[in-house]
Amino acid sequence: MSQIAQSLYPLMLSPLKVGAHTLPNRVIMGSLHTRLENEPDGVQRLAAFYAARARGGVGLVVTGGVSPNFDGRVEQGAWVLDSATQLDQHIPIVQAVHAAGSKIALQILHTGIYAKHDEIIGPSAVRSVINPRQPRAFTPEQIEQTIEDFVNCAVLAQQAGYDGVEVMGSEGYLMTQFTALRTNKREDEWGGSLENRIRFPVEVVRRTRERVGPSLLIMYRISAIDLVEGGLSGDEIDRLAQALEQAGADVLNTGIGWHESVVPTIATSVPRAAFAFAAARIKKAVSIPVVASNRINMPSVAEDILAQGQADLVSLARAFLADPDFVIKAATGRTDEINTCIGCNQACLDHIFTDRIASCLVNPQACHETEFTEAAPQHKLKVAVIGAGPAGLACAITAAERGHQVQLFEASSEVGGQLNLARRIPGKEEEFAELVRYFSKRLSTTGVQVHLNRRVESAWLMTQGFDQVVVATGIKPRTPLIEGIEHVKVVSYSDVILGRVQVGERVAIIGTGGIGHDVAELLTSTQAGVQTAAEFLKIWGVDPTIQSAGGLQAPVAEGAQRKVVMLQRGTKKPGARLGKSTGWIHRTKLTKRGVTAVSGCTYEKIDHQGLHYSVNGEPHLLEVDTIVLCAGQESEQALATQLTGNVTHLNLIGGARVATELDAMRAIDEGTRLAYKW
Ligand code: NAP
Ligand code: SF4
Repeated sequence: MSQIAQSLYPLMLSPLKVGAHTLPNRVIMGSLHTRLENEPDGVQRLAAFYAARARGGVGLVVTGGVSPNFDGRVEQGAWVLDSATQLDQHIPIVQAVHAAGSKIALQILHTGIYAKHDEIIGPSAVRSVINPRQPRAFTPEQIEQTIEDFVNCAVLAQQAGYDGVEVMGSEGYLMTQFTALRTNKREDEWGGSLENRIRFPVEVVRRTRERVGPSLLIMYRISAIDLVEGGLSGDEIDRLAQALEQAGADVLNTGIGWHESVVPTIATSVPRAAFAFAAARIKKAVSIPVVASNRINMPSVAEDILAQGQADLVSLARAFLADPDFVIKAATGRTDEINTCIGCNQACLDHIFTDRIASCLVNPQACHETEFTEAAPQHKLKVAVIGAGPAGLACAITAAERGHQVQLFEASSEVGGQLNLARRIPGKEEEFAELVRYFSKRLSTTGVQVHLNRRVESAWLMTQGFDQVVVATGIKPRTPLIEGIEHVKVVSYSDVILGRVQVGERVAIIGTGGIGHDVAELLTSTQAGVQTAAEFLKIWGVDPTIQSAGGLQAPVAEGAQRKVVMLQRGTKKPGARLGKSTGWIHRTKLTKRGVTAVSGCTYEKIDHQGLHYSVNGEPHLLEVDTIVLCAGQESEQALATQLTGNVTHLNLIGGARVATELDAMRAIDEGTRLAYKW
């Protein structure tokens, strides 16, 4: 291991004894729901997915949640481990991870009232606000049986060769449903007092330890702050933590908030390590190791948490979708080569919420490992990539890494394309800058020849003898046909984001898509510089002392810099196409800042008075100083049109191919996959 890296991350890279096991470093790969288990070749794909992360040096892999019984499963088709006949699903996964040199724990997850099927059951017949299904309440006999099912599942995990189990006790799943008054309305020995409410998780751990002996690692994932009304207070969480330690848990992993919390916990706009304080509180209450989680996406963030004594280990989940080699890169002095998770949730959580296989916006190979061949291409090609936005960058670095000779041409003075706009939006600055840093570094390590400030002419390109020409020229903003669109009040979103124009105090934004929301965020923000964790917690009403139930307090109003109105012609909820797991955050923030939205409008004209529009035939005037166009995109295909028929192998990718659903996820996916075709 590099001496430089060791001195940079001495704690993160140091071993730790946890229960009967010694982990080689302090980094745990947290549980991720991938939905791969629903695929016919799911076992093989899961084995490849986890093994890649194990090869990348992670100390302990935690699997996606597996239910201890039929009623507790996530959804139809999700895995249950309640019989030895199912061990065949697990043994190849365990063997693949062990062969790659890491340890692996099975997460045991009972979803309770979060289940997406009709066998839904919980401590009480209380429906979750995020699930339309009405649960049944457990009978006392069913509670006893469910505890036995957890124990049986752990025993089976041990038989499969797992090094440990993680009992999932956070994010609003069954254990938290028992511990919180919000969902536990029972009047028997499983409800009422705190002692009764924590009895279920404590019994699960106690009886599991009795049955599996000391060798199986038992990690309990405790909800370190519930972030819901009717959740636990900090003192109650401490008492639960102490009871779990006494019952035989080796280590406490932490989870932040329930899925139904209205506080963002993992999105891009959540400052890095913003919730480490909650793990730190538990660490003071127990003597077993405690794991911090949430928005830990770079080695320096992990090292800081460990150095401050907030936790003994760190758990990163999405960071391992983004880069399987996170640990090994940190350990060998290549931190600047880490492909950083930007917290967008676009290809991971949003895929899960829409019943698709998880992947990663910045790493399309995640959960698709078996689709990408490691074999080197037969012929080394001369490749031209035109456009250094996400599509062109992904294609160029992948092709060069595979051994092709790649030249990348970019008309502007920097690489990144639309990413350079995203990194100017408050809350996105750090992470999108990381993505540009990653691509820039990979361009140099893979040997791509980069030509900046170089607008390529088709005539020149045709004479250069490239074997493959990739047009990744991106998009141009759409200018809608509205009378007066040339008025001085009208500006483009790119000019606003790049600070090239003055924006008045009263603003109309035409368009309510991702860009419209970003522009509204930028124009109303009063934030100077990157938001700190303390500022974030205040604005979202999080009590860092966790004295109140759920750790909530009254949010501090942010105020707004301008009066902004967003408009759309469609009648659906504005921003309906934003990501399922992040759209609500944008909408909530803007509503708090007084931003309003108008749907179903017809734009009539723009003049010195402002924007004239009508809704259902009724005329309206918005007296505004500035009108920002965020009316979507059109493909920039001029070069592609000139080249068609004139070069042999012409490829069109990203926004240049289709602009309507322009986004970085499709762009990077298309660029990467194209480079694997040669
Ligand atoms: P978009 O999501 O397609 O939204 C375009 C907006 O313009 C819509 O509100 C549409 O509403 C309006 N519009 C379309 N044609 C129009 C016309 N002729 N006249 C007036 N209005 C028109 O496009 P975008 O906002 O440019 O975002 C592009 C992509 O970038 C998104 O798909 C997203 O993937 C990505 N992105 C996402 C985020 C995020 O999630 N936070 C942020 C930035 C970018 P009506 O047609 O109803 O008027
Ligand atoms: Fe992170 Fe976005 Fe990838 Fe999810 S899709 S792992 S949030 S970069």
